[in-house]
Amino acid sequence: MAVVSRCSRAATAATTANATTAPTFAYLIRSLSPFSSSSSTFDPQNDLNNRNKPAVLGTLKRESKGRNVQWVFLGCPGVGKGTYASRLSNLLGVPHISTGDLVRDELASSGPLSSQLKEIVTQGKLVSDEIIIDLLSKRLEAGEAKGESGFILDGFPRTVRQAEILEGVTDIDLVINLKLREEALLAKCLGRRICSECGGNYNVACIDIKAENGRPGMYMAPLPPPPQCASKLITRPDDTEEVVKQRLRIYQAMTRPVEDFYRIRGKLLEFDLPGGIPESWPKLLCALNLEDREDKQSAAA
Ligand code: AMP
Repeated sequence: MAVVSRCSRAATAATTANATTAPTFAYLIRSLSPFSSSSSTFDPQNDLNNRNKPAVLGTLKRESKGRNVQWVFLGCPGVGKGTYASRLSNLLGVPHISTGDLVRDELASSGPLSSQLKEIVTQGKLVSDEIIIDLLSKRLEAGEAKGESGFILDGFPRTVRQAEILEGVTDIDLVINLKLREEALLAKCLGRRICSECGGNYNVACIDIKAENGRPGMYMAPLPPPPQCASKLITRPDDTEEVVKQRLRIYQAMTRPVEDFYRIRGKLLEFDLPGGIPESWPKLLCALNLEDREDKQSAAA
C-alpha cells in the first residue's frame, strides 16, 4: 500500500513537472516498484564502532530485507566507480548498471537518439533526465524479465531531480561516495583505455604523486590490458583534456548536491581511495563489512 502511494506521488510529481515525460516516468516506476521495501534508519546505539558508516551496513550480512542490495556509486569522472561497482557486482551477484554504458550503447546502435546523444556526450554535458530515465527503466525492465534482483548503479543519479525520482520509487540502501585526489582524476581519465571487443576497462597512466607539505604521496600503478585486448584498445571520445575538465565542472555544479541529498538521509558512505586497486579494494570491502564474503568466494573458486 505504502509502495503504491509512493509510486503514484512520484508519478504525479513527474506529470506535474512535465506532462510529456509522464509515460517515461511511469515506465521507471513500474520497473522499480517490485524492489521496494522499508527504509533504513541510523541507530547510533548499534553502531558505536562504525560512527561514520551508515547504519544499513550493520544489517547487510543478515540480508534482513530479503532482497539483493540496491546501491549507488557516486564520485567524480575518473574516480573508479565502474571498476569498484563491477567488482562488487561480481562479489554480490547483482547487476552493475552504468548509465554511461547505456548511453554509449544507444550511441553505437545508431538509433533515433544517436546523433543527439553524440553531441551532448562529446561536449561533456549531461543527457536530459527524461532520456536517461528512459534508458535506465528499459534496462531495469529487461533485467527484471531475466529474473535479476537488486542493482549497483554507477553514474545515476547525477542530478538532485534524478535522486528525488529514484528515492520516490524505491529504497536505495547505500550510496558509496568515492573520492580521489584531484590531481589524479584528470590523469586517470586521460589514461583510460577500453577494449573495443570485450568492453574491459584498462589504464595506461602511472600516477606517482610525491609527498609534499605534510600530505602523503600516492601511487597508482597502470592497469594493463591482457594480451588478447592489447591491440583493440580505444579511448573514449569524452576523455580528452578539455572535455574531462568540463565534466569535472559539471560534476561540481550538478552532482555534488546529490551527495548532500543522501548525506542528510543517512545513506552516504564516504570512501577516500588510498591508491590503486591493490590498496583500495581490501579497504573498501572492510568499509562495507564484506571481507568475509570475499574470503568465502576465494575459497570456493
Ligand atoms: P559516464 O560513463 O558515467 O562518465 O557517462 C558518460 C556520459 O553519459 C556523461 O558524460 C553524460 O553525458 C551521460 N550520462 C551518463 N549518466 C548520466 C546521467 N545519470 N544523467 C545525465 N547524463 C548521463
